[in-house]
Amino acid sequence: MNIIQSIQKESTISTSKKKGGKRGSSKDRPSSRKPPRIPTNWEQLPPDDKIERFDEMDLSDDLLDALEDMGFEKPTPIQALAIPKALEGRDLVGKAETGSGKTVAFGAPVVDRLNEHRVAVLALVLCPTRELALQVAEVFEELTTYKPLRTALIVGGEPMRDQIKELQKGCQIVVGTPGRVLDMVREKWLSLGWVEIAVLDEADEMLEIGFLDDVTEILEATPKEKQVLLFSATFPPPLMKIAEKYLKNPISMGVNKSSKAASTIEQFWMKVRAEDRPDAMIRILDQDEDAVTLAFCESRLEVERLAKRLKRLSYPVLSLHGGYDQPVRRKIMDQFRTGKIRALVATDVAARGLDISHVTRVLNYAVPRTLETYLHRIGRTGRAGAKGTALTFVSPTKQRDWDRMVAQGKLDITELETDDYLGKGWKQSEGRRERDSGRGGRERSRRPRSRERS
Ligand code: ADP
Ligand code: MG
Repeated sequence: MNIIQSIQKESTISTSKKKGGKRGSSKDRPSSRKPPRIPTNWEQLPPDDKIERFDEMDLSDDLLDALEDMGFEKPTPIQALAIPKALEGRDLVGKAETGSGKTVAFGAPVVDRLNEHRVAVLALVLCPTRELALQVAEVFEELTTYKPLRTALIVGGEPMRDQIKELQKGCQIVVGTPGRVLDMVREKWLSLGWVEIAVLDEADEMLEIGFLDDVTEILEATPKEKQVLLFSATFPPPLMKIAEKYLKNPISMGVNKSSKAASTIEQFWMKVRAEDRPDAMIRILDQDEDAVTLAFCESRLEVERLAKRLKRLSYPVLSLHGGYDQPVRRKIMDQFRTGKIRALVATDVAARGLDISHVTRVLNYAVPRTLETYLHRIGRTGRAGAKGTALTFVSPTKQRDWDRMVAQGKLDITELETDDYLGKGWKQSEGRRERDSGRGGRERSRRPRSRERS
Protein backbone atom coordinates (compact mmCIF):
# COMPACT_ATOMS: atom_id res chain seq x y z
CA MET A 1 0.00 0.00 0.00
CA ASN A 2 1.59 3.26 -0.99
CA ILE A 3 1.16 6.45 0.95
CA ILE A 4 -1.64 7.89 -1.14
CA GLN A 5 -3.56 4.66 -0.94
CA SER A 6 -3.10 4.48 2.79
CA ILE A 7 -4.13 8.09 3.19
CA GLN A 8 -7.14 7.39 1.05
CA LYS A 9 -8.01 4.38 3.10
CA GLU A 10 -7.82 6.32 6.33
CA SER A 11 -9.84 9.13 4.88
CA THR A 12 -12.40 6.74 3.56
CA ILE A 13 -13.10 5.70 7.08
CA SER A 14 -13.62 9.24 8.24
CA THR A 15 -15.69 10.19 5.25
CA SER A 16 -18.00 7.27 5.52
CA LYS A 17 -18.44 7.95 9.22
CA LYS A 18 -19.36 11.55 8.64
CA LYS A 19 -21.58 11.04 5.70
CA GLY A 20 -23.16 7.90 6.96
CA GLY A 21 -26.32 8.57 4.98
CA LYS A 22 -24.51 8.36 1.69
CA ARG A 23 -22.92 5.05 2.33
CA GLY A 24 -25.54 3.13 0.46
CA SER A 25 -24.67 4.73 -2.84
CA SER A 26 -21.06 3.63 -2.69
CA LYS A 27 -22.28 0.07 -2.34
CA ASP A 28 -23.23 0.22 -5.98
CA ARG A 29 -19.59 0.50 -6.93
CA PRO A 30 -17.70 -1.44 -4.35
CA SER A 31 -14.47 -1.37 -6.32
CA SER A 32 -14.28 2.41 -6.15
CA ARG A 33 -12.79 3.30 -2.82
CA LYS A 34 -12.03 6.85 -3.81
CA PRO A 35 -13.55 9.18 -1.27
CA PRO A 36 -14.65 12.60 -2.50
CA ARG A 37 -12.39 14.75 -0.40
CA ILE A 38 -9.05 13.27 -1.35
CA PRO A 39 -6.80 15.87 -2.83
CA THR A 40 -6.32 14.86 -6.43
CA ASN A 41 -3.53 17.36 -6.92
CA TRP A 42 -1.13 15.55 -4.64
CA GLU A 43 1.76 14.40 -6.64
CA GLN A 44 3.28 11.19 -5.49
CA LEU A 45 6.90 10.25 -5.60
CA PRO A 46 7.61 6.57 -6.06
CA PRO A 47 9.80 5.11 -3.35
CA ASP A 48 12.91 4.66 -5.38
CA ASP A 49 15.99 6.59 -4.59
CA LYS A 50 17.96 7.19 -7.72
CA ILE A 51 20.07 9.79 -6.02
CA GLU A 52 23.01 8.05 -4.42
CA ARG A 53 25.03 10.95 -3.10
CA PHE A 54 24.37 14.22 -1.32
CA ASP A 55 26.49 16.10 -3.84
CA GLU A 56 24.11 15.11 -6.61
CA MET A 57 21.52 17.27 -4.91
CA ASP A 58 21.36 21.01 -5.20
CA LEU A 59 22.85 21.52 -1.76
CA SER A 60 25.39 24.27 -1.09
CA ASP A 61 28.96 23.45 -0.18
CA ASP A 62 28.29 24.65 3.38
CA LEU A 63 25.71 21.96 3.76
CA LEU A 64 27.74 19.27 2.05
CA ASP A 65 30.65 20.02 4.37
CA ALA A 66 28.39 19.88 7.41
CA LEU A 67 26.93 16.54 6.30
CA GLU A 68 30.41 15.22 5.77
CA ASP A 69 31.39 16.30 9.28
CA MET A 70 28.34 14.47 10.58
CA GLY A 71 29.74 11.34 8.97
CA PHE A 72 26.91 10.82 6.51
CA GLU A 73 28.17 9.31 3.30
CA LYS A 74 24.99 8.78 1.36
CA PRO A 75 21.42 9.93 1.81
CA THR A 76 18.85 7.60 3.31
CA PRO A 77 15.86 6.86 1.04
CA ILE A 78 13.62 9.51 2.60
CA GLN A 79 16.44 12.05 2.33
CA ALA A 80 17.00 11.15 -1.32
CA LEU A 81 13.32 11.79 -2.01
CA ALA A 82 12.61 14.76 0.22
CA ILE A 83 15.68 16.97 -0.02
CA PRO A 84 15.58 17.75 -3.76
CA LYS A 85 11.84 18.53 -3.70
CA ALA A 86 12.08 20.59 -0.52
CA LEU A 87 14.94 22.56 -2.06
CA GLU A 88 12.60 23.44 -4.93
CA GLY A 89 10.29 24.97 -2.37
CA ARG A 90 7.56 22.35 -2.62
CA ASP A 91 5.30 21.36 0.26
CA LEU A 92 5.92 17.80 1.35
CA VAL A 93 4.05 15.01 3.07
CA GLY A 94 6.54 12.39 4.16
CA LYS A 95 5.77 9.03 5.58
CA ALA A 96 8.72 7.02 6.80
CA GLU A 97 9.51 4.62 9.57
CA THR A 98 11.42 5.83 12.60
CA GLY A 99 15.15 5.85 12.26
CA SER A 100 14.93 6.57 8.55
CA GLY A 101 16.69 9.91 8.82
CA LYS A 102 13.79 12.34 8.65
CA THR A 103 15.56 15.05 10.63
CA VAL A 104 18.18 15.64 7.96
CA ALA A 105 15.50 15.15 5.29
CA PHE A 106 13.89 18.39 6.40
CA GLY A 107 16.86 19.95 8.23
CA ALA A 108 19.19 20.12 5.26
CA PRO A 109 16.79 21.90 2.89
CA VAL A 110 15.59 24.24 5.64
CA VAL A 111 19.13 25.33 6.45
CA ASP A 112 20.05 25.63 2.81
CA ARG A 113 17.05 27.73 1.84
CA LEU A 114 17.25 30.32 4.61
CA ASN A 115 18.96 33.64 4.13
CA GLU A 116 21.48 34.05 6.91
CA HIS A 117 21.50 37.83 6.52
CA ARG A 118 17.94 38.15 7.66
CA VAL A 119 17.27 38.50 11.36
CA ALA A 120 13.85 37.06 11.97
CA VAL A 121 12.37 33.65 12.68
CA LEU A 122 12.34 32.18 9.20
CA ALA A 123 11.84 28.51 10.01
CA LEU A 124 9.68 26.87 12.63
CA VAL A 125 9.97 23.18 13.52
CA LEU A 126 7.33 21.66 15.80
CA CYS A 127 7.97 18.35 17.57
CA PRO A 128 5.78 16.37 19.96
CA THR A 129 8.15 16.06 22.91
CA ARG A 130 10.90 18.07 24.51
CA GLU A 131 13.50 15.38 24.01
CA LEU A 132 12.69 15.12 20.35
CA ALA A 133 12.83 18.89 19.96
CA LEU A 134 16.22 18.91 21.67
CA GLN A 135 17.54 16.29 19.29
CA VAL A 136 16.23 18.10 16.28
CA ALA A 137 17.79 21.34 17.54
CA GLU A 138 21.10 19.54 17.95
CA VAL A 139 20.94 18.35 14.35
CA PHE A 140 20.27 21.93 13.26
CA GLU A 141 23.31 23.06 15.23
CA GLU A 142 25.40 20.60 13.26
CA LEU A 143 23.86 21.49 9.93
CA THR A 144 24.58 25.18 10.52
CA THR A 145 28.29 24.69 11.26
CA TYR A 146 29.28 26.56 8.12
CA LYS A 147 26.29 28.83 7.75
CA PRO A 148 25.69 31.53 10.35
CA LEU A 149 22.11 30.72 11.24
CA ARG A 150 21.03 30.58 14.85
CA THR A 151 18.66 28.00 16.34
CA ALA A 152 16.52 28.50 19.45
CA LEU A 153 14.97 25.66 21.42
CA ILE A 154 11.55 26.62 22.76
CA VAL A 155 10.21 23.84 24.98
CA GLY A 156 8.27 23.57 28.20
CA GLY A 157 9.78 22.60 31.51
CA GLU A 158 12.57 25.15 31.38
CA PRO A 159 12.47 28.81 32.36
CA MET A 160 10.88 31.00 29.72
CA ARG A 161 13.33 33.72 30.68
CA ASP A 162 16.36 32.00 29.14
CA GLN A 163 14.47 31.13 26.00
CA ILE A 164 13.29 34.72 25.62
CA LYS A 165 16.92 35.83 25.88
CA GLU A 166 17.82 33.38 23.13
CA LEU A 167 15.08 34.73 20.92
CA GLN A 168 16.17 38.30 21.57
CA LYS A 169 19.65 37.50 20.32
CA GLY A 170 18.04 36.90 16.95
CA CYS A 171 17.34 33.38 15.76
CA GLN A 172 16.30 32.31 12.31
CA ILE A 173 15.30 28.80 13.29
CA VAL A 174 12.96 27.89 16.14
CA VAL A 175 12.58 24.28 17.18
CA GLY A 176 10.01 23.59 19.84
CA THR A 177 7.00 21.89 21.26
CA PRO A 178 3.59 23.36 20.46
CA GLY A 179 2.60 24.30 24.04
CA ARG A 180 5.58 26.52 24.78
CA VAL A 181 5.81 27.91 21.28
CA LEU A 182 2.20 29.01 21.52
CA ASP A 183 2.79 30.60 24.93
CA MET A 184 5.66 32.58 23.44
CA VAL A 185 3.57 33.63 20.48
CA ARG A 186 0.64 34.70 22.63
CA GLU A 187 2.88 36.71 24.92
CA LYS A 188 4.51 38.26 21.89
CA TRP A 189 8.02 37.10 22.65
CA LEU A 190 8.01 35.13 19.45
CA SER A 191 6.84 36.52 16.16
CA LEU A 192 6.05 34.08 13.43
CA GLY A 193 5.16 36.73 10.89
CA TRP A 194 8.27 36.10 8.79
CA VAL A 195 8.22 32.32 8.76
CA GLU A 196 9.10 30.95 5.35
CA ILE A 197 9.21 27.25 6.22
CA ALA A 198 7.16 25.37 8.80
CA VAL A 199 7.97 21.75 9.67
CA LEU A 200 5.67 19.38 11.53
CA ASP A 201 7.75 16.46 12.76
CA GLU A 202 6.07 13.27 14.03
CA ALA A 203 2.80 15.05 13.35
CA ASP A 204 0.53 12.14 14.28
CA GLU A 205 2.08 12.00 17.71
CA MET A 206 1.64 15.72 18.18
CA LEU A 207 -2.04 15.35 17.57
CA GLU A 208 -2.26 12.28 19.74
CA ILE A 209 -0.80 14.16 22.69
CA GLY A 210 -3.55 16.72 22.21
CA PHE A 211 -1.69 19.47 20.41
CA LEU A 212 -4.16 19.77 17.53
CA ASP A 213 -5.54 23.15 18.59
CA ASP A 214 -2.13 24.51 19.49
CA VAL A 215 -0.63 23.45 16.19
CA THR A 216 -3.51 25.02 14.30
CA GLU A 217 -3.23 28.29 16.22
CA ILE A 218 0.51 28.38 15.64
CA LEU A 219 0.11 27.79 11.92
CA GLU A 220 -2.47 30.56 11.82
CA ALA A 221 0.17 32.91 13.23
CA THR A 222 2.48 32.25 10.28
CA PRO A 223 2.17 33.90 6.86
CA LYS A 224 -0.07 32.19 4.33
CA GLU A 225 2.75 32.09 1.82
CA LYS A 226 5.20 29.59 3.18
CA GLN A 227 6.56 26.14 2.63
CA VAL A 228 5.20 23.37 4.84
CA LEU A 229 6.98 20.06 5.39
CA LEU A 230 4.97 17.45 7.23
CA PHE A 231 6.38 14.17 8.49
CA SER A 232 4.37 11.49 10.16
CA ALA A 233 4.31 7.74 10.57
CA THR A 234 0.54 7.55 10.18
CA PHE A 235 -2.11 9.79 8.68
CA PRO A 236 -5.27 9.74 10.78
CA PRO A 237 -8.17 11.89 9.56
CA PRO A 238 -7.51 14.96 11.76
CA LEU A 239 -4.00 15.11 10.40
CA MET A 240 -5.27 14.82 6.84
CA LYS A 241 -7.46 17.83 7.55
CA ILE A 242 -4.48 19.86 8.65
CA ALA A 243 -2.53 18.70 5.64
CA GLU A 244 -5.29 19.70 3.27
CA LYS A 245 -5.75 23.05 4.90
CA TYR A 246 -2.16 24.14 5.25
CA LEU A 247 -0.25 22.39 2.50
CA LYS A 248 -0.35 23.67 -1.02
CA ASN A 249 -0.12 21.23 -3.84
CA PRO A 250 2.11 18.94 -1.80
CA ILE A 251 4.23 16.08 -2.98
CA SER A 252 3.72 12.99 -0.91
CA MET A 253 6.35 10.38 -0.43
CA GLY A 254 6.73 7.29 1.63
CA VAL A 255 9.70 5.06 1.85
CA ASN A 256 8.07 2.26 3.73
CA LYS A 257 4.78 1.09 5.01
CA SER A 258 4.53 2.22 8.59
CA SER A 259 3.40 -1.27 9.57
CA LYS A 260 6.80 -2.70 9.02
CA ALA A 261 9.80 -2.94 11.25
CA ALA A 262 13.26 -2.26 9.93
CA SER A 263 14.73 -5.49 8.67
CA THR A 264 17.75 -5.00 10.92
CA ILE A 265 15.67 -5.67 14.02
CA GLU A 266 15.31 -9.24 15.22
CA GLN A 267 12.05 -9.65 17.09
CA PHE A 268 11.30 -12.07 19.93
CA TRP A 269 8.68 -12.56 22.54
CA MET A 270 8.32 -14.77 25.59
CA LYS A 271 5.69 -15.69 28.11
CA VAL A 272 6.36 -14.07 31.46
CA ARG A 273 3.87 -13.57 34.22
CA ALA A 274 3.38 -9.97 35.18
CA GLU A 275 4.92 -10.43 38.61
CA ASP A 276 7.93 -12.30 37.25
CA ARG A 277 8.94 -9.58 34.86
CA PRO A 278 11.52 -7.86 37.09
CA ASP A 279 13.34 -11.15 37.60
CA ALA A 280 13.20 -11.91 33.92
CA MET A 281 14.56 -8.50 33.13
CA ILE A 282 17.44 -8.94 35.56
CA ARG A 283 18.36 -12.23 33.91
CA ILE A 284 18.35 -10.56 30.58
CA LEU A 285 20.50 -7.66 31.75
CA ASP A 286 22.91 -10.19 33.25
CA GLN A 287 23.16 -12.24 30.08
CA ASP A 288 24.70 -9.59 27.93
CA GLU A 289 26.55 -6.88 29.72
CA ASP A 290 27.55 -5.11 26.54
CA ALA A 291 23.98 -4.59 25.43
CA VAL A 292 22.38 -1.18 25.70
CA THR A 293 18.80 -1.75 26.72
CA LEU A 294 15.77 0.49 26.44
CA ALA A 295 12.82 -0.93 28.37
CA PHE A 296 9.29 0.30 27.89
CA CYS A 297 6.71 0.35 30.65
CA GLU A 298 3.08 1.22 30.46
CA SER A 299 2.86 4.05 32.96
CA ARG A 300 4.97 6.45 34.97
CA LEU A 301 4.20 4.40 38.05
CA GLU A 302 5.42 1.23 36.42
CA VAL A 303 8.61 2.98 35.33
CA GLU A 304 9.29 4.18 38.86
CA ARG A 305 8.55 0.81 40.43
CA LEU A 306 10.73 -1.12 38.04
CA ALA A 307 13.61 1.35 38.25
CA LYS A 308 13.43 1.29 42.04
CA ARG A 309 13.39 -2.46 42.13
CA LEU A 310 16.38 -2.77 39.81
CA LYS A 311 18.32 -0.11 41.68
CA ARG A 312 17.66 -1.88 44.94
CA LEU A 313 19.26 -4.95 43.42
CA SER A 314 22.15 -2.66 42.42
CA TYR A 315 21.43 -2.67 38.72
CA PRO A 316 22.38 0.75 37.44
CA VAL A 317 19.39 1.91 35.44
CA LEU A 318 18.04 5.27 34.43
CA SER A 319 14.39 6.11 34.23
CA LEU A 320 12.58 8.60 32.08
CA HIS A 321 8.98 9.71 31.91
CA GLY A 322 6.98 12.80 31.25
CA GLY A 323 6.74 13.66 34.92
CA TYR A 324 10.37 14.68 35.26
CA ASP A 325 11.54 18.28 34.97
CA GLN A 326 13.22 19.18 31.76
CA PRO A 327 16.72 19.69 33.25
CA VAL A 328 16.47 16.26 34.87
CA ARG A 329 15.29 14.66 31.65
CA ARG A 330 18.14 16.25 29.81
CA LYS A 331 20.66 14.99 32.33
CA ILE A 332 19.25 11.49 32.13
CA MET A 333 19.40 11.49 28.35
CA ASP A 334 23.00 12.70 28.42
CA GLN A 335 23.98 9.97 30.84
CA PHE A 336 22.31 7.38 28.68
CA ARG A 337 23.73 8.71 25.45
CA THR A 338 27.29 8.83 26.72
CA GLY A 339 26.92 5.15 27.54
CA LYS A 340 27.71 5.41 31.24
CA ILE A 341 24.53 3.60 32.11
CA ARG A 342 23.41 0.86 29.84
CA ALA A 343 19.74 0.51 30.67
CA LEU A 344 16.95 3.03 30.47
CA VAL A 345 13.41 2.38 31.66
CA ALA A 346 10.90 4.70 30.05
CA THR A 347 7.33 5.41 29.04
CA ASP A 348 6.28 5.77 25.41
CA VAL A 349 5.87 9.51 25.51
CA ALA A 350 9.35 9.99 26.94
CA ALA A 351 10.95 7.75 24.36
CA ARG A 352 9.07 8.67 21.23
CA GLY A 353 11.42 9.65 18.46
CA LEU A 354 14.49 9.69 20.67
CA ASP A 355 17.61 9.26 18.67
CA ILE A 356 19.71 7.05 20.83
CA SER A 357 21.48 5.28 18.08
CA HIS A 358 23.47 2.91 20.27
CA VAL A 359 20.47 1.06 21.70
CA THR A 360 21.03 -2.60 20.87
CA ARG A 361 17.94 -3.99 22.52
CA VAL A 362 14.42 -2.85 23.11
CA LEU A 363 12.57 -4.63 25.86
CA ASN A 364 8.81 -4.35 25.96
CA TYR A 365 8.39 -4.82 29.65
CA ALA A 366 4.73 -4.08 29.04
CA VAL A 367 2.94 -5.12 25.86
CA PRO A 368 2.24 -1.95 23.88
CA ARG A 369 -1.36 -0.96 23.31
CA THR A 370 -1.19 -0.67 19.55
CA LEU A 371 0.81 -2.04 16.68
CA GLU A 372 1.92 1.47 15.86
CA THR A 373 3.34 1.90 19.35
CA TYR A 374 5.07 -1.45 19.07
CA LEU A 375 6.74 -0.42 15.84
CA HIS A 376 7.77 2.91 17.26
CA ARG A 377 9.25 1.28 20.31
CA ILE A 378 11.27 -1.30 18.49
CA GLY A 379 12.34 1.39 16.03
CA ARG A 380 14.52 2.79 18.82
CA THR A 381 17.00 0.04 18.00
CA GLY A 382 18.42 -1.03 14.66
CA ARG A 383 18.75 2.63 13.70
CA ALA A 384 20.22 3.55 10.33
CA GLY A 385 21.14 0.01 9.43
CA ALA A 386 22.67 -1.16 12.73
CA LYS A 387 21.59 -4.49 14.18
CA GLY A 388 19.17 -4.61 17.07
CA THR A 389 16.89 -6.96 18.92
CA ALA A 390 13.44 -6.46 20.37
CA LEU A 391 11.97 -8.66 23.07
CA THR A 392 8.43 -8.48 24.40
CA PHE A 393 7.24 -9.91 27.71
CA VAL A 394 3.73 -11.27 27.34
CA SER A 395 1.75 -12.09 30.45
CA PRO A 396 -1.30 -14.39 30.29
CA THR A 397 -3.75 -11.49 30.49
CA LYS A 398 -2.07 -9.81 27.52
CA GLN A 399 -1.76 -12.89 25.37
CA ARG A 400 -4.84 -12.22 23.26
CA ASP A 401 -3.97 -8.57 22.63
CA TRP A 402 -0.50 -9.65 21.69
CA ASP A 403 -1.62 -12.41 19.31
CA ARG A 404 -3.92 -9.95 17.62
CA MET A 405 -1.13 -7.41 17.21
CA VAL A 406 1.25 -9.99 15.79
CA ALA A 407 -1.37 -11.05 13.27
CA GLN A 408 -2.33 -7.49 12.39
CA GLY A 409 1.25 -6.44 11.77
CA LYS A 410 2.21 -9.77 10.21
CA LEU A 411 5.20 -9.55 12.49
CA ASP A 412 8.15 -11.74 11.80
CA ILE A 413 8.69 -12.70 15.38
CA THR A 414 10.04 -15.70 17.26
CA GLU A 415 8.81 -17.05 20.56
CA LEU A 416 11.55 -17.85 23.06
CA GLU A 417 11.00 -20.64 25.56
CA THR A 418 11.13 -18.65 28.77
CA ASP A 419 12.80 -21.22 31.00
CA ASP A 420 15.26 -22.29 28.33
CA TYR A 421 16.22 -18.77 27.52
CA LEU A 422 16.50 -17.41 31.03
CA GLY A 423 17.95 -20.54 32.58
CA LYS A 424 16.67 -22.47 35.56
CA GLY A 425 15.93 -20.70 38.79
CA TRP A 426 15.43 -17.26 37.33
CA LYS A 427 12.27 -16.62 39.28
CA GLN A 428 13.15 -15.22 42.68
CA SER A 429 9.49 -14.87 43.42
CA GLU A 430 8.81 -18.56 42.75
CA GLY A 431 8.59 -19.64 46.39
CA ARG A 432 6.48 -16.71 47.29
CA ARG A 433 4.09 -17.27 44.49
CA GLU A 434 3.64 -20.89 45.28
CA ARG A 435 2.71 -19.99 48.81
CA ASP A 436 0.26 -17.42 47.58
CA SER A 437 -1.13 -19.23 44.65
CA GLY A 438 -4.43 -20.02 46.33
CA ARG A 439 -7.46 -18.15 45.21
CA GLY A 440 -7.39 -15.53 47.90
CA GLY A 441 -3.61 -15.43 48.09
CA ARG A 442 -1.98 -12.34 49.46
CA GLU A 443 0.01 -11.62 46.34
CA ARG A 444 -3.06 -11.95 44.21
CA SER A 445 -5.30 -9.78 46.33
CA ARG A 446 -2.66 -7.07 46.33
CA ARG A 447 -2.53 -7.19 42.58
CA PRO A 448 -5.93 -6.45 41.22
CA ARG A 449 -6.20 -7.18 37.53
CA SER A 450 -6.61 -3.56 36.70
CA ARG A 451 -3.16 -2.85 38.10
CA GLU A 452 -1.54 -4.37 35.10
CA ARG A 453 -3.30 -2.00 32.85
CA SER A 454 -2.95 1.10 34.99
P1 ADP B 1 13.83 9.61 12.20
O1 ADP B 1 13.52 11.04 12.57
O2 ADP B 1 13.34 9.24 10.84
O3 ADP B 1 13.37 8.63 13.25
P2 ADP B 1 16.56 10.44 12.57
O4 ADP B 1 16.56 11.67 11.77
O5 ADP B 1 16.48 10.61 14.05
O6 ADP B 1 15.41 9.45 12.09
O7 ADP B 1 17.87 9.60 12.16
C1 ADP B 1 18.09 8.31 12.68
C2 ADP B 1 19.57 8.01 12.79
O8 ADP B 1 20.16 7.91 11.50
C3 ADP B 1 20.37 9.09 13.51
O9 ADP B 1 21.30 8.47 14.36
C4 ADP B 1 21.06 9.84 12.41
O10 ADP B 1 22.25 10.43 12.87
C5 ADP B 1 21.31 8.74 11.40
N1 ADP B 1 21.35 9.23 10.02
C6 ADP B 1 20.56 10.16 9.46
N2 ADP B 1 20.88 10.34 8.17
C7 ADP B 1 21.89 9.51 7.89
C8 ADP B 1 22.68 9.23 6.72
N3 ADP B 1 22.45 9.84 5.57
N4 ADP B 1 23.66 8.31 6.82
C9 ADP B 1 23.87 7.67 7.98
N5 ADP B 1 23.19 7.88 9.13
C10 ADP B 1 22.20 8.79 9.08
MG1 MG C 1 12.57 12.03 13.97
